[in-house]
Amino acid sequence: MSSDLVIVYHRQPYEEVKENGRIVFRENKSPNGIVPTLKSFFGSVDHGGWVAWKLADDPENPDFEKRIEVNDAYGQYSVSRLPLSAEQVREFYHVTSKEAFWPILHSFKERYNYDPVDWANFQTVNRRFAEAVAEEAARNALVWVHDYNLWLVPGYLREMRPDLRIAFFHHTPFPSADTFNVLPWRKEIVESLLSCDDIGFHIPRYAANFVSVARSLFDVDVVERVRVPDAWISEGTALTERVMPTQIAVDDRKVCVSVTPVGVDGDFINERARALETSKKTAEIRQELNDERLILSVGRTDYTKGGIEQLCSYERLLENNPDLRGNVRLMHVSVSANRNMTAYAEIQSDIEQIVGRINGRFGRLDWQPVTLISRAVPFADLVAYYRAADVAWITPLADGMNLVCKEFVASRVDGDGVLVLSEFAGAAVELSEAVFTNPFSHKSMDRAILQALNMPEHERRQRMGSLREAVEGNDVRQWTPGRLTVSSAPKASAA
Ligand code: UDP
Repeated sequence: MSSDLVIVYHRQPYEEVKENGRIVFRENKSPNGIVPTLKSFFGSVDHGGWVAWKLADDPENPDFEKRIEVNDAYGQYSVSRLPLSAEQVREFYHVTSKEAFWPILHSFKERYNYDPVDWANFQTVNRRFAEAVAEEAARNALVWVHDYNLWLVPGYLREMRPDLRIAFFHHTPFPSADTFNVLPWRKEIVESLLSCDDIGFHIPRYAANFVSVARSLFDVDVVERVRVPDAWISEGTALTERVMPTQIAVDDRKVCVSVTPVGVDGDFINERARALETSKKTAEIRQELNDERLILSVGRTDYTKGGIEQLCSYERLLENNPDLRGNVRLMHVSVSANRNMTAYAEIQSDIEQIVGRINGRFGRLDWQPVTLISRAVPFADLVAYYRAADVAWITPLADGMNLVCKEFVASRVDGDGVLVLSEFAGAAVELSEAVFTNPFSHKSMDRAILQALNMPEHERRQRMGSLREAVEGNDVRQWTPGRLTVSSAPKASAA
């Protein structure tokens, strides 16, 4: 029992690579993803702890140390590595989390797959996470649990260690009761979440949905509500709420419900965007384009990201606007996910097929309408593309937040560029000066991309100025575990 703050996240907080036969822990230099942000909280406590899983041939006798001490730029912290077999990982992560929970969280009921779920394995894995935290956490420590694959951890942990302060953050959307309650384990999940002190979401709508789900299953009262900040209310997005619940009462306990939209590391991106090598790369990209305008789309290959809808809209754009042929280019970065999962393999092949069709229909010897990139682009290069693009076209059907659009805005140190954003991305709530689009509507998709391509410079600059203010105003450093404070417990009360 040594850590004042324990972060519970399914991945380890570094890259573990073999160099000359030795295991070395490499700092993940990329600012994307939340790992560096989470580690930065270790700077506010005497000792931090992290709990993650690690693949083991024999989980009973792993060939690695289960707990290691790390000392890096973020301070001194321990990492507890929970040994899991390949089968346990497959069932807990690839099946239960990705085939059952993911589609429900994103409101794709028709993709939800109940049959292969091994619920007992999910419970076991979550219980083992909770046991590892219970061993690691100092008295009254803050435990911050991340994401839906660890939904049952708070409940188990509360039984083991009633002294702890427990926060949970959802990185995904949270759907309405109609959708969430499709899950047969809904009561067990929500009961576990209600044992937290603070439950966090990206935007007010997800918090409101969670509270209505909780009320549909348990005797829960809303004891505090606040008006949503005016800056978050805009006509353009379907995800805005005017009032949000901030505290609920369950039995005799109060639970905070927090809305803390995660931001990007503005200083880092700003520096990267202004770096000489980025400017050179941006100039090369632009030179290669001649006078063609560049539309950039970046995301993972996932049915939630709206890649198919976007490519079909691009095909209609070229069909209906012959003058654009040869004058515009789409760079579609769609990073392939785990190909073992049928749902993702299918979407990948659909995307490849549509790209082939567009290039076949409209391509010429001197012009290829779409460039498809299926491998992850290193962040440094991505910033150069963000800077070179005329339009960032981000059209998820559902997305908890979407950091790509915020990174695009943070990269536009030149104050130009247009963001076309789905009104169903969590980020739409903060980015009210984007050109909003509804990816479920052909008309809306087609209109928005044309509007972006035709936008006069003064309007582009005015909108980008406001977008930059919004992104800078909610930097990643503003992020907190809701209303709980990250600090070491007074030593007098330590066990
Ligand atoms: N990303 C990257 N290279 C790529 C595509 C994406 O580094 O080729 C990064 C991107 O910079 C962003 C993250 O992956 O930080 C994607 O985060 P987002 O919230 O947009 O979507 P998620 O994948 O978490 O659903």
